[in-house]
Amino acid sequence: MDVGKVICTEDASFFEVLEIINNNGLGIAFITNKLDQMCGVLTDGDARRHILKGGKLSESIQHSFNRDFAFGTDEEDLDTHRARLSDKIKILPVLNKDRKVVRYIRNESRNFYPVMMPDLSGGNELTYLLEAFSSTWISSQGPYIERFEKDFAAFSEKKYGVAVSNGTVAIHLALEALGVGEGSEVILPDFTFGATINAVLHSRATPVLVDVDPIRWTISPAAIEAAITPRTRAILPVHIYGQPANMDEISAIAEKHNLLLVEDCAEAHGARFKNRSVGSFGDINTYSFFANKILTTGEGGMCVTDSYELYRRMRQLRDHGMSPDKRYWHDIVGYNYRMTNLQAALGCGQLERINEILAKRKTVEDLYAKYLSDSPYVSLQRHFNDSHKVNWLVCITVDRRDDLIRHLKANNIDARPFFYSLGEMPIFAKYLHSNTHSRALGRSGLNLPSDSQLRESDIKTICHTITSFYEKPLHA
Ligand SMILES: *Cc1c(COP(=O)(O)O)cnc(C)c1O
Repeated sequence: MDVGKVICTEDASFFEVLEIINNNGLGIAFITNKLDQMCGVLTDGDARRHILKGGKLSESIQHSFNRDFAFGTDEEDLDTHRARLSDKIKILPVLNKDRKVVRYIRNESRNFYPVMMPDLSGGNELTYLLEAFSSTWISSQGPYIERFEKDFAAFSEKKYGVAVSNGTVAIHLALEALGVGEGSEVILPDFTFGATINAVLHSRATPVLVDVDPIRWTISPAAIEAAITPRTRAILPVHIYGQPANMDEISAIAEKHNLLLVEDCAEAHGARFKNRSVGSFGDINTYSFFANKILTTGEGGMCVTDSYELYRRMRQLRDHGMSPDKRYWHDIVGYNYRMTNLQAALGCGQLERINEILAKRKTVEDLYAKYLSDSPYVSLQRHFNDSHKVNWLVCITVDRRDDLIRHLKANNIDARPFFYSLGEMPIFAKYLHSNTHSRALGRSGLNLPSDSQLRESDIKTICHTITSFYEKPLHA
Protein backbone atom coordinates (compact mmCIF):
# COMPACT_ATOMS: atom_id res chain seq x y z
CA MET A 1 0.00 0.00 0.00
CA ASP A 2 1.37 3.38 -1.01
CA VAL A 3 -0.22 5.91 1.34
CA GLY A 4 1.26 8.74 -0.73
CA LYS A 5 -1.16 7.93 -3.55
CA VAL A 6 -4.15 8.82 -1.38
CA ILE A 7 -2.81 12.04 0.12
CA CYS A 8 -3.51 15.52 -1.19
CA THR A 9 -2.57 18.83 0.42
CA GLU A 10 -5.30 21.28 1.37
CA ASP A 11 -4.04 24.01 -0.98
CA ALA A 12 -4.60 21.78 -4.04
CA SER A 13 -7.12 22.55 -6.79
CA PHE A 14 -10.02 20.32 -7.74
CA PHE A 15 -8.10 19.35 -10.83
CA GLU A 16 -5.17 18.13 -8.75
CA VAL A 17 -7.30 16.22 -6.29
CA LEU A 18 -9.20 14.53 -9.11
CA GLU A 19 -5.95 13.36 -10.63
CA ILE A 20 -5.02 11.79 -7.31
CA ILE A 21 -8.43 10.13 -6.91
CA ASN A 22 -8.33 8.88 -10.47
CA ASN A 23 -4.86 7.42 -10.07
CA ASN A 24 -5.48 5.67 -6.78
CA GLY A 25 -8.76 4.13 -7.95
CA LEU A 26 -10.14 4.39 -4.39
CA GLY A 27 -12.65 7.18 -5.00
CA ILE A 28 -11.21 9.30 -2.16
CA ALA A 29 -8.30 11.53 -1.18
CA PHE A 30 -7.04 12.19 2.37
CA ILE A 31 -6.44 15.91 2.80
CA THR A 32 -3.43 17.07 4.84
CA ASN A 33 -2.33 20.45 6.15
CA LYS A 34 1.10 22.11 6.10
CA LEU A 35 2.27 19.94 9.01
CA ASP A 36 1.30 16.77 7.07
CA GLN A 37 -1.51 16.17 9.54
CA MET A 38 -4.71 14.73 8.18
CA CYS A 39 -7.48 17.32 8.30
CA GLY A 40 -10.20 15.97 6.03
CA VAL A 41 -11.35 13.83 3.14
CA LEU A 42 -12.67 14.55 -0.34
CA THR A 43 -14.45 11.95 -2.47
CA ASP A 44 -15.08 11.79 -6.22
CA GLY A 45 -18.73 12.47 -5.36
CA ASP A 46 -17.77 15.73 -3.60
CA ALA A 47 -15.84 16.80 -6.69
CA ARG A 48 -18.75 15.92 -8.98
CA ARG A 49 -21.15 17.96 -6.87
CA HIS A 50 -18.75 20.93 -6.94
CA ILE A 51 -18.67 20.86 -10.73
CA LEU A 52 -22.42 20.36 -11.07
CA LYS A 53 -22.97 23.44 -8.90
CA GLY A 54 -20.94 25.45 -11.38
CA GLY A 55 -17.62 25.27 -9.53
CA LYS A 56 -14.39 25.37 -11.54
CA LEU A 57 -11.67 22.73 -11.68
CA SER A 58 -9.05 25.39 -11.04
CA GLU A 59 -10.62 26.39 -7.71
CA SER A 60 -8.97 25.36 -4.45
CA ILE A 61 -10.52 22.54 -2.45
CA GLN A 62 -9.85 24.53 0.74
CA HIS A 63 -13.51 25.31 1.52
CA SER A 64 -15.05 22.21 0.02
CA PHE A 65 -13.52 19.17 1.65
CA ASN A 66 -15.03 17.35 4.58
CA ARG A 67 -13.33 18.10 7.89
CA ASP A 68 -15.44 15.63 9.81
CA PHE A 69 -14.20 12.16 8.97
CA ALA A 70 -13.87 8.67 10.46
CA PHE A 71 -10.41 7.37 11.28
CA GLY A 72 -8.58 4.81 13.36
CA THR A 73 -5.43 5.24 15.44
CA ASP A 74 -2.34 3.10 15.22
CA GLU A 75 -2.83 2.06 18.82
CA GLU A 76 -6.09 0.28 18.05
CA ASP A 77 -6.25 -3.22 16.57
CA LEU A 78 -7.52 -4.28 13.17
CA ASP A 79 -10.89 -5.50 14.45
CA THR A 80 -11.61 -2.11 15.96
CA HIS A 81 -10.76 -0.50 12.62
CA ARG A 82 -12.89 -3.00 10.67
CA ALA A 83 -15.87 -2.30 12.95
CA ARG A 84 -15.77 1.30 11.73
CA LEU A 85 -16.16 0.31 8.07
CA SER A 86 -19.66 0.45 6.66
CA ASP A 87 -21.51 1.00 3.39
CA LYS A 88 -20.75 4.70 3.78
CA ILE A 89 -17.19 4.38 5.08
CA LYS A 90 -15.44 2.00 2.74
CA ILE A 91 -11.92 3.25 3.44
CA LEU A 92 -10.62 4.15 6.88
CA PRO A 93 -7.40 6.13 7.40
CA VAL A 94 -5.21 5.07 10.32
CA LEU A 95 -3.39 7.97 12.07
CA ASN A 96 -0.49 8.11 14.49
CA LYS A 97 -0.19 10.38 17.55
CA ASP A 98 0.85 13.30 15.33
CA ARG A 99 -2.27 12.85 13.21
CA LYS A 100 -0.19 11.67 10.28
CA VAL A 101 -1.60 8.96 7.99
CA VAL A 102 0.29 5.70 8.45
CA ARG A 103 -1.97 3.39 6.46
CA TYR A 104 -5.59 2.83 5.51
CA ILE A 105 -7.84 -0.18 5.60
CA ARG A 106 -10.63 -1.03 3.20
CA ASN A 107 -13.50 -3.41 3.03
CA GLU A 108 -11.78 -6.48 1.56
CA SER A 109 -14.63 -8.93 1.52
CA ARG A 110 -16.46 -8.74 -1.77
CA ASN A 111 -19.94 -10.00 -1.38
CA PHE A 112 -20.97 -10.01 -5.02
CA TYR A 113 -19.03 -10.85 -8.18
CA PRO A 114 -20.59 -9.25 -11.27
CA VAL A 115 -19.84 -10.68 -14.73
CA MET A 116 -18.35 -7.39 -15.88
CA MET A 117 -17.32 -3.99 -14.58
CA PRO A 118 -15.78 -1.28 -16.73
CA ASP A 119 -12.10 -0.61 -16.00
CA LEU A 120 -11.90 3.19 -15.89
CA SER A 121 -9.24 4.09 -13.37
CA GLY A 122 -5.52 4.50 -13.68
CA GLY A 123 -5.37 6.39 -16.98
CA ASN A 124 -6.39 9.73 -18.44
CA GLU A 125 -10.08 8.91 -18.87
CA LEU A 126 -11.37 11.29 -16.20
CA THR A 127 -8.89 14.06 -17.06
CA TYR A 128 -9.91 14.02 -20.75
CA LEU A 129 -13.59 13.77 -19.90
CA LEU A 130 -13.36 16.82 -17.62
CA GLU A 131 -11.34 18.67 -20.22
CA ALA A 132 -14.02 17.99 -22.84
CA PHE A 133 -16.69 19.01 -20.35
CA SER A 134 -15.01 22.29 -19.40
CA SER A 135 -14.26 23.10 -23.03
CA THR A 136 -18.07 23.11 -23.65
CA TRP A 137 -17.54 20.90 -26.73
CA ILE A 138 -19.91 18.31 -25.36
CA SER A 139 -21.79 17.39 -28.51
CA SER A 140 -20.53 15.78 -31.68
CA GLN A 141 -17.86 18.29 -32.61
CA GLY A 142 -14.57 18.60 -30.79
CA PRO A 143 -10.98 17.48 -30.95
CA TYR A 144 -11.42 14.15 -29.13
CA ILE A 145 -13.65 12.74 -31.84
CA GLU A 146 -11.07 13.10 -34.60
CA ARG A 147 -8.29 11.94 -32.34
CA PHE A 148 -10.23 8.85 -31.28
CA GLU A 149 -11.15 8.03 -34.88
CA LYS A 150 -7.59 8.38 -36.07
CA ASP A 151 -6.02 6.44 -33.22
CA PHE A 152 -8.63 3.72 -33.19
CA ALA A 153 -8.37 3.19 -36.97
CA ALA A 154 -4.61 2.76 -36.54
CA PHE A 155 -5.20 0.30 -33.70
CA SER A 156 -7.52 -1.67 -36.00
CA GLU A 157 -4.95 -1.43 -38.85
CA LYS A 158 -7.25 0.52 -41.16
CA LYS A 159 -6.88 4.02 -42.60
CA TYR A 160 -10.12 5.68 -41.52
CA GLY A 161 -12.43 5.55 -38.53
CA VAL A 162 -15.99 6.88 -38.24
CA ALA A 163 -17.14 7.10 -34.62
CA VAL A 164 -20.84 6.45 -34.05
CA SER A 165 -23.33 6.24 -31.21
CA ASN A 166 -23.19 2.47 -30.67
CA GLY A 167 -22.09 -0.85 -32.12
CA THR A 168 -25.47 -1.69 -33.64
CA VAL A 169 -25.74 1.44 -35.75
CA ALA A 170 -22.09 0.88 -36.73
CA ILE A 171 -23.16 -2.33 -38.51
CA HIS A 172 -26.19 -0.63 -40.03
CA LEU A 173 -24.07 2.29 -41.25
CA ALA A 174 -21.52 -0.10 -42.79
CA LEU A 175 -24.21 -2.04 -44.70
CA GLU A 176 -25.93 1.16 -45.80
CA ALA A 177 -22.67 2.72 -47.04
CA LEU A 178 -21.87 -0.47 -48.95
CA GLY A 179 -25.26 -0.39 -50.62
CA VAL A 180 -26.46 -3.60 -49.01
CA GLY A 181 -30.23 -3.33 -48.69
CA GLU A 182 -33.52 -4.68 -49.97
CA GLY A 183 -33.11 -7.77 -52.14
CA SER A 184 -29.61 -8.58 -50.81
CA GLU A 185 -28.81 -11.52 -48.59
CA VAL A 186 -26.28 -11.19 -45.80
CA ILE A 187 -24.76 -14.36 -44.31
CA LEU A 188 -24.06 -14.14 -40.58
CA PRO A 189 -23.51 -16.61 -37.73
CA ASP A 190 -26.52 -18.02 -35.90
CA PHE A 191 -24.46 -17.71 -32.70
CA THR A 192 -24.10 -14.00 -31.89
CA PHE A 193 -25.73 -11.22 -29.92
CA GLY A 194 -29.09 -10.14 -31.40
CA ALA A 195 -27.75 -6.72 -32.38
CA THR A 196 -25.95 -8.25 -35.38
CA ILE A 197 -29.13 -9.55 -37.00
CA ASN A 198 -31.18 -6.51 -35.95
CA ALA A 199 -28.75 -4.26 -37.84
CA VAL A 200 -29.10 -6.42 -40.98
CA LEU A 201 -32.89 -6.23 -40.71
CA HIS A 202 -32.76 -2.44 -40.29
CA SER A 203 -30.87 -2.28 -43.58
CA ARG A 204 -33.80 -4.18 -45.17
CA ALA A 205 -31.47 -6.90 -46.42
CA THR A 206 -32.35 -10.53 -45.70
CA PRO A 207 -30.24 -12.18 -43.00
CA VAL A 208 -29.17 -15.79 -43.56
CA LEU A 209 -28.20 -17.47 -40.29
CA VAL A 210 -25.59 -20.20 -40.60
CA ASP A 211 -23.97 -22.56 -38.15
CA VAL A 212 -20.67 -22.05 -36.34
CA ASP A 213 -17.58 -24.20 -36.04
CA PRO A 214 -18.11 -26.45 -32.99
CA ILE A 215 -14.63 -25.80 -31.56
CA ARG A 216 -13.93 -22.20 -32.54
CA TRP A 217 -17.56 -21.08 -32.05
CA THR A 218 -17.18 -18.62 -34.95
CA ILE A 219 -19.00 -18.76 -38.31
CA SER A 220 -18.29 -21.99 -40.21
CA PRO A 221 -16.72 -21.38 -43.66
CA ALA A 222 -18.36 -24.58 -44.99
CA ALA A 223 -21.75 -23.37 -43.74
CA ILE A 224 -21.20 -20.02 -45.51
CA GLU A 225 -20.47 -21.78 -48.83
CA ALA A 226 -23.57 -23.92 -48.42
CA ALA A 227 -25.75 -20.84 -47.96
CA ILE A 228 -24.57 -18.75 -50.93
CA THR A 229 -27.24 -17.90 -53.53
CA PRO A 230 -27.27 -15.49 -56.47
CA ARG A 231 -28.70 -12.86 -54.10
CA THR A 232 -25.88 -13.08 -51.54
CA ARG A 233 -24.15 -9.70 -51.27
CA ALA A 234 -22.15 -9.81 -48.04
CA ILE A 235 -20.67 -11.99 -45.31
CA LEU A 236 -20.81 -10.68 -41.74
CA PRO A 237 -18.56 -12.79 -39.48
CA VAL A 238 -18.51 -12.09 -35.73
CA HIS A 239 -15.38 -12.55 -33.61
CA ILE A 240 -17.41 -14.06 -30.82
CA TYR A 241 -16.25 -13.88 -27.19
CA GLY A 242 -12.84 -12.53 -28.25
CA GLN A 243 -12.14 -15.39 -30.69
CA PRO A 244 -11.16 -14.40 -34.25
CA ALA A 245 -13.16 -16.10 -37.00
CA ASN A 246 -11.11 -17.93 -39.62
CA MET A 247 -10.45 -14.88 -41.77
CA ASP A 248 -8.26 -16.71 -44.32
CA GLU A 249 -11.06 -19.00 -45.40
CA ILE A 250 -13.77 -16.36 -45.09
CA SER A 251 -11.80 -13.79 -47.14
CA ALA A 252 -11.16 -16.47 -49.80
CA ILE A 253 -14.90 -17.25 -50.04
CA ALA A 254 -15.73 -13.54 -50.29
CA GLU A 255 -13.19 -13.09 -53.07
CA LYS A 256 -14.26 -16.21 -54.99
CA HIS A 257 -17.94 -15.19 -54.98
CA ASN A 258 -17.33 -11.45 -55.21
CA LEU A 259 -19.01 -10.72 -51.88
CA LEU A 260 -18.60 -7.79 -49.51
CA LEU A 261 -17.09 -8.48 -46.10
CA VAL A 262 -18.01 -6.73 -42.83
CA GLU A 263 -16.47 -7.95 -39.57
CA ASP A 264 -18.40 -7.44 -36.33
CA CYS A 265 -15.55 -6.91 -33.85
CA ALA A 266 -17.76 -5.78 -30.93
CA GLU A 267 -16.35 -8.46 -28.61
CA ALA A 268 -12.76 -8.68 -29.81
CA HIS A 269 -10.84 -5.37 -29.60
CA GLY A 270 -7.16 -6.24 -30.06
CA ALA A 271 -7.64 -9.87 -31.20
CA ARG A 272 -5.47 -11.01 -34.10
CA PHE A 273 -5.74 -13.59 -36.87
CA LYS A 274 -2.35 -14.67 -38.29
CA ASN A 275 -0.78 -11.54 -36.95
CA ARG A 276 -3.32 -9.16 -38.47
CA SER A 277 -5.75 -7.30 -36.28
CA VAL A 278 -9.39 -8.29 -36.45
CA GLY A 279 -11.15 -5.42 -38.18
CA SER A 280 -8.40 -5.17 -40.80
CA PHE A 281 -9.81 -7.76 -43.25
CA GLY A 282 -13.24 -6.59 -44.39
CA ASP A 283 -14.46 -3.66 -46.52
CA ILE A 284 -15.88 -1.92 -43.46
CA ASN A 285 -15.57 -3.38 -39.95
CA THR A 286 -17.39 -2.41 -36.81
CA TYR A 287 -16.81 -2.14 -33.07
CA SER A 288 -18.92 -1.46 -30.00
CA PHE A 289 -17.81 0.54 -26.94
CA PHE A 290 -20.73 -0.34 -24.66
CA ALA A 291 -19.81 -0.34 -20.96
CA ASN A 292 -19.29 -4.10 -20.78
CA LYS A 293 -17.05 -4.30 -23.85
CA ILE A 294 -13.24 -4.51 -23.71
CA LEU A 295 -12.86 -0.80 -24.41
CA THR A 296 -15.71 1.53 -23.48
CA THR A 297 -17.04 5.01 -24.12
CA GLY A 298 -20.25 4.37 -22.14
CA GLU A 299 -22.23 3.89 -25.32
CA GLY A 300 -20.42 4.10 -28.63
CA GLY A 301 -19.21 2.38 -31.74
CA MET A 302 -16.84 2.72 -34.69
CA CYS A 303 -16.64 1.79 -38.37
CA VAL A 304 -13.17 1.37 -39.87
CA THR A 305 -12.23 1.19 -43.54
CA ASP A 306 -9.37 1.71 -45.98
CA SER A 307 -11.61 3.37 -48.58
CA TYR A 308 -11.73 7.16 -48.62
CA GLU A 309 -14.97 7.02 -50.56
CA LEU A 310 -16.70 4.78 -48.02
CA TYR A 311 -15.31 6.95 -45.23
CA ARG A 312 -16.86 10.06 -46.80
CA ARG A 313 -20.14 8.30 -47.42
CA MET A 314 -20.37 7.03 -43.83
CA ARG A 315 -19.66 10.50 -42.46
CA GLN A 316 -22.44 11.95 -44.56
CA LEU A 317 -24.94 9.22 -43.60
CA ARG A 318 -23.99 9.68 -39.94
CA ASP A 319 -24.75 13.39 -40.11
CA HIS A 320 -28.33 13.47 -41.48
CA GLY A 321 -27.16 12.86 -45.05
CA MET A 322 -26.14 16.51 -45.29
CA SER A 323 -23.79 17.41 -48.10
CA PRO A 324 -20.28 17.97 -46.72
CA ASP A 325 -19.86 20.88 -49.16
CA LYS A 326 -23.20 22.64 -48.86
CA ARG A 327 -24.75 23.15 -45.47
CA TYR A 328 -28.40 22.12 -45.00
CA TRP A 329 -28.38 20.55 -48.44
CA HIS A 330 -29.31 16.86 -48.26
CA ASP A 331 -28.09 14.60 -51.08
CA ILE A 332 -29.14 11.37 -49.38
CA VAL A 333 -31.48 10.29 -46.60
CA GLY A 334 -29.25 10.08 -43.56
CA TYR A 335 -29.28 9.39 -39.85
CA ASN A 336 -28.05 10.96 -36.67
CA TYR A 337 -25.51 8.31 -35.65
CA ARG A 338 -22.91 10.67 -34.17
CA MET A 339 -20.70 10.10 -31.14
CA THR A 340 -20.16 12.94 -28.65
CA ASN A 341 -16.84 14.56 -27.80
CA LEU A 342 -17.41 13.42 -24.18
CA GLN A 343 -17.62 9.78 -25.25
CA ALA A 344 -14.60 10.17 -27.51
CA ALA A 345 -12.61 11.74 -24.64
CA LEU A 346 -13.29 8.64 -22.56
CA GLY A 347 -12.35 6.49 -25.57
CA CYS A 348 -9.00 8.29 -26.01
CA GLY A 349 -8.15 7.63 -22.36
CA GLN A 350 -9.11 3.97 -22.71
CA LEU A 351 -7.23 3.47 -25.95
CA GLU A 352 -4.01 4.85 -24.45
CA ARG A 353 -3.94 1.93 -22.06
CA ILE A 354 -5.51 -0.78 -24.21
CA ASN A 355 -2.43 -2.99 -23.85
CA GLU A 356 -2.67 -2.79 -20.07
CA ILE A 357 -6.43 -3.50 -20.22
CA LEU A 358 -5.87 -6.54 -22.45
CA ALA A 359 -3.03 -7.85 -20.27
CA LYS A 360 -5.15 -7.56 -17.12
CA ARG A 361 -7.99 -9.40 -18.84
CA LYS A 362 -5.63 -12.13 -19.96
CA THR A 363 -4.42 -12.60 -16.39
CA VAL A 364 -8.03 -13.21 -15.34
CA GLU A 365 -8.49 -15.81 -18.10
CA ASP A 366 -5.20 -17.52 -17.17
CA LEU A 367 -6.23 -17.73 -13.52
CA TYR A 368 -9.49 -19.42 -14.43
CA ALA A 369 -7.49 -21.88 -16.54
CA LYS A 370 -5.19 -22.51 -13.59
CA TYR A 371 -8.09 -23.57 -11.37
CA LEU A 372 -10.40 -25.18 -13.94
CA SER A 373 -8.29 -26.81 -16.65
CA ASP A 374 -7.99 -30.09 -14.73
CA SER A 375 -11.69 -30.30 -13.97
CA PRO A 376 -13.50 -33.14 -15.78
CA TYR A 377 -16.75 -31.14 -15.56
CA VAL A 378 -15.72 -27.94 -17.30
CA SER A 379 -14.45 -27.11 -20.82
CA LEU A 380 -12.73 -23.77 -21.28
CA GLN A 381 -12.78 -21.66 -24.43
CA ARG A 382 -9.99 -22.83 -26.74
CA HIS A 383 -6.91 -21.03 -28.03
CA PHE A 384 -5.62 -21.66 -31.58
CA ASN A 385 -2.15 -21.42 -33.05
CA ASP A 386 -3.29 -19.39 -36.05
CA SER A 387 -4.69 -16.57 -33.95
CA HIS A 388 -4.51 -14.53 -30.80
CA LYS A 389 -7.81 -14.43 -28.95
CA VAL A 390 -8.51 -11.80 -26.32
CA ASN A 391 -10.53 -12.23 -23.16
CA TRP A 392 -13.88 -10.46 -23.26
CA LEU A 393 -16.05 -12.64 -21.02
CA VAL A 394 -14.62 -15.81 -19.53
CA CYS A 395 -16.44 -18.70 -21.23
CA ILE A 396 -16.97 -22.29 -20.18
CA THR A 397 -19.23 -25.10 -21.37
CA VAL A 398 -20.69 -27.60 -18.92
CA ASP A 399 -23.47 -30.12 -18.37
CA ARG A 400 -26.50 -28.96 -16.35
CA ARG A 401 -25.71 -25.37 -17.24
CA ASP A 402 -28.87 -23.76 -15.87
CA ASP A 403 -28.53 -25.55 -12.54
CA LEU A 404 -24.95 -24.35 -12.28
CA ILE A 405 -26.00 -20.74 -12.96
CA ARG A 406 -28.60 -20.99 -10.19
CA HIS A 407 -26.01 -22.45 -7.83
CA LEU A 408 -23.55 -19.64 -8.61
CA LYS A 409 -26.18 -16.94 -8.13
CA ALA A 410 -27.13 -18.47 -4.77
CA ASN A 411 -23.47 -17.96 -3.85
CA ASN A 412 -23.47 -14.30 -5.00
CA ILE A 413 -21.59 -15.11 -8.18
CA ASP A 414 -23.08 -13.60 -11.31
CA ALA A 415 -23.11 -15.78 -14.42
CA ARG A 416 -24.76 -15.47 -17.83
CA PRO A 417 -25.91 -18.08 -20.29
CA PHE A 418 -24.33 -17.95 -23.75
CA PHE A 419 -26.23 -16.30 -26.58
CA TYR A 420 -29.04 -18.55 -27.75
CA SER A 421 -29.21 -19.75 -31.33
CA LEU A 422 -30.91 -16.79 -33.08
CA GLY A 423 -32.77 -19.17 -35.39
CA GLU A 424 -34.46 -20.76 -32.38
CA MET A 425 -36.27 -17.50 -31.61
CA PRO A 426 -39.65 -17.23 -33.32
CA ILE A 427 -39.00 -13.75 -34.74
CA PHE A 428 -35.78 -14.87 -36.47
CA ALA A 429 -36.71 -18.50 -37.31
CA LYS A 430 -37.51 -17.73 -40.93
CA TYR A 431 -33.92 -16.62 -41.57
CA LEU A 432 -32.34 -19.85 -40.30
CA HIS A 433 -30.16 -21.88 -42.64
CA SER A 434 -28.20 -24.15 -40.25
CA ASN A 435 -27.68 -24.25 -36.48
CA THR A 436 -26.64 -27.69 -35.17
CA HIS A 437 -23.62 -26.47 -33.21
CA SER A 438 -24.90 -23.01 -32.29
CA ARG A 439 -27.97 -24.60 -30.71
CA ALA A 440 -25.82 -26.91 -28.59
CA LEU A 441 -23.56 -24.03 -27.52
CA GLY A 442 -26.53 -21.88 -26.58
CA ARG A 443 -27.55 -24.62 -24.14
CA SER A 444 -24.22 -25.52 -22.56
CA GLY A 445 -22.18 -22.33 -22.34
CA LEU A 446 -21.93 -19.67 -19.67
CA ASN A 447 -19.93 -16.55 -18.89
CA LEU A 448 -18.22 -16.13 -15.54
CA PRO A 449 -17.19 -12.95 -13.68
CA SER A 450 -14.53 -11.44 -15.92
CA ASP A 451 -13.68 -7.97 -14.68
CA SER A 452 -10.03 -7.18 -14.28
CA GLN A 453 -10.37 -6.10 -10.64
CA LEU A 454 -10.81 -9.78 -9.67
CA ARG A 455 -7.99 -11.11 -7.55
CA GLU A 456 -6.60 -14.62 -7.56
CA SER A 457 -8.39 -15.41 -4.29
CA ASP A 458 -11.74 -14.33 -5.83
CA ILE A 459 -11.22 -16.52 -8.88
CA LYS A 460 -10.20 -19.43 -6.71
CA THR A 461 -13.44 -19.04 -4.73
CA ILE A 462 -15.52 -18.91 -7.92
CA CYS A 463 -13.80 -21.97 -9.40
CA HIS A 464 -14.22 -23.88 -6.18
CA THR A 465 -17.94 -23.04 -6.15
CA ILE A 466 -18.18 -24.50 -9.67
CA THR A 467 -16.25 -27.72 -9.06
CA SER A 468 -17.92 -28.42 -5.71
CA PHE A 469 -21.31 -28.19 -7.46
CA TYR A 470 -20.35 -31.14 -9.67
CA GLU A 471 -18.62 -33.09 -6.95
CA LYS A 472 -21.76 -33.21 -4.83
CA PRO A 473 -24.03 -36.25 -5.38
CA LEU A 474 -26.97 -35.19 -7.56
CA HIS A 475 -29.79 -35.35 -5.05
CA ALA A 476 -27.89 -34.43 -1.92
C1 LIG B 1 -22.40 -5.58 -28.12
C2 LIG B 1 -22.53 -6.14 -29.46
C3 LIG B 1 -23.09 -5.41 -30.52
C4 LIG B 1 -23.83 -4.12 -30.34
O1 LIG B 1 -23.18 -3.14 -29.71
P1 LIG B 1 -23.99 -1.94 -28.98
O2 LIG B 1 -22.93 -0.93 -28.80
O3 LIG B 1 -24.53 -2.49 -27.72
O4 LIG B 1 -25.04 -1.48 -29.91
C5 LIG B 1 -23.05 -5.97 -31.78
N1 LIG B 1 -22.54 -7.18 -32.00
C6 LIG B 1 -22.03 -7.93 -31.01
C7 LIG B 1 -21.46 -9.27 -31.35
C8 LIG B 1 -22.02 -7.45 -29.70
O5 LIG B 1 -21.53 -8.20 -28.72
